[in-house]
Amino acid sequence: MSTRPNFLPERETREWQDLDNKHYLHPFTTHKEIRENSARIIERAEDIYVYTHDGEKLLDGMAGLWCCNLGYSRPEIVDAVHQQLQYLPFYNNFFQCAHTTVIEASHRIINDVAPDHITDVFFTGSGSEANDTNIRIVRRYWDVQGQSQRKYIISRDNAYHGSTIAATSLGGIADMKKQVDGMGNVEHIMPPYHFELSEHGESEEAFGERAAQALEDKILALGPENVAAFIGEPIMGAGGVKIPPANYWKLIEKICRKYNILLILDEVITGFGRLGHWFACDYYGIKPDLITFAKAVTNGFQQLGGVLVSDRVSKVLNSDSQEFTHGYTYSGHPAACAAALATIGVFERDNVLDYVRNEIGPYFTERLSELKGHPLVGEVRTIGMLGAIEIVKDKASKTRFPGEVNAGVIIRDCFINEGVIMRAVGQTMVAAPPLVITKSQVDELIEKARAGLDKAASKLI
Ligand code: PMP
Repeated sequence: MSTRPNFLPERETREWQDLDNKHYLHPFTTHKEIRENSARIIERAEDIYVYTHDGEKLLDGMAGLWCCNLGYSRPEIVDAVHQQLQYLPFYNNFFQCAHTTVIEASHRIINDVAPDHITDVFFTGSGSEANDTNIRIVRRYWDVQGQSQRKYIISRDNAYHGSTIAATSLGGIADMKKQVDGMGNVEHIMPPYHFELSEHGESEEAFGERAAQALEDKILALGPENVAAFIGEPIMGAGGVKIPPANYWKLIEKICRKYNILLILDEVITGFGRLGHWFACDYYGIKPDLITFAKAVTNGFQQLGGVLVSDRVSKVLNSDSQEFTHGYTYSGHPAACAAALATIGVFERDNVLDYVRNEIGPYFTERLSELKGHPLVGEVRTIGMLGAIEIVKDKASKTRFPGEVNAGVIIRDCFINEGVIMRAVGQTMVAAPPLVITKSQVDELIEKARAGLDKAASKLI
C-alpha cells in the first residue's frame, strides 16, 4: 500500500468534508446539493479499487472517468513522469522549438498506435481542448483551399464533446446547452439510439440506415458546399453508452465521402483500447480524417489530449504558409508525453488489446448480459469493455420511472453501498471498468451490481 504524501495533513473525514464545502467548486455538480450533503472523500487507489477516506473499498467500474484503462497501480508511468520532471520539467513547443519527449511521443503514437492513414498529431491538455482544436483545424483546412463558405459542423443530439464553450456547442446534451450561448454553425441530427428511437419492430439494421440517412438529409438541407465536417463519438459515452447498429459507421463514412466533408471521430473514450483496438475506427474499419483522443493516452495520470490528423488533412495544413495561430502552453507537456510513452509501453508489453478482444471483453459481455433477467432491466448493451443497463419500470413496454423519482441516482447510490461504482446517465447505468480487470473481478462487479439492483427494486417498485 502506498503512503500518504507528506504535504497532506491528517484530518478526520468530517473535517475534509467541511473544508471541501468551504472552498471548492466541483465540476459537473449541483452546488447547492453538495453544500447541503457533503462529498464522498476519496483518499487513495490501488489496482482497480478506490478507497474512501472513511475506509470503504469500491470497485471502480468507471476507470476513474473512463480513463484509467490500466488501473491505478502503474509504477512504470509514475516512474516515467518522475524521471521526466527531474530532467526537463517543462518547456514549450511554440515558435520553431520542440523537446525530445514530445518528438518521441509523436513518433510512437503515429507509428505504433494510430491507424496507417494518420500522419500527424497535435497535442492539447484535454479532450475538450482537442475538440476546440478540431474546429480550428477544420476551418483552416477549408480556408487554405479557398472554401471558406464551408462553415457548418454536423453533430448529434446527446453527443458529449467536452465542456469548453466550443466543445459544448458541438455537443448535444440539453442541460449543458441551456447554460451556454454557444457557437453558431453547428447542426444536430438524431443519435443512433435503437432502444429509445427505433419505431415499433424496426430492426437494428433498418434503424442504422435511418439514423445515417439523417446525416445525408441534413447535408442536403444545408447545401453540401456549406458543410465542413461531421463529428461523432464512435460509441456515445457520457450520453449513455449508445452503441450504434453495426452498419451505421460505414454508412456515415460513405455519406461524408460522397459530399467531400471531413469525418471527425471523437475517440476520447474509445481510444486506447476500450474496444480491444487502439481506436474504435480500427474496430469499425473506417478512416476518419481527424481523431480526438485524451484520457487513457496517459492512463489518466497526466493531462493530455490531442488530434490525430490524416494524410488528407495534414497535406493541406503542411502546405499552409500562414502561421496556424493556435496552441496551448501545455501542448505536448513533457511530463504528459512521458506518461503517454510509458502507457503505450505497458499496453504493448502486457498485450492488453488482445486481452480485451479475446478474453475479458467477451467475459464482460457474457456476465453483464445476465442482468437482463432482472425486473428493473430493459436492455443490456456491451461492446468491448463498455456496458450499459437500461432501467425500466415496465419491461414489456419499456416504460421508464417518472423523472422526479430519480431512479438512476437511487440505483447508483445502491451500487455504491454494495461497493461498486457505475455512472447513472438518466435511467441508463453505464460501466467502463479498467481493461485489466480480471475475470473474478468481473464476477465481483456483477454480483455487486445485482445486489444493488435488488436493493433499488425494493425502493422503487
Ligand atoms: N469527448 C468525449 C467523447 C468525452 O467523453 C469527453 C470527456 N468525458 C471529452 C470529449 C472531454 O474531455 P475532457 O474532459 O478531457 O475535456
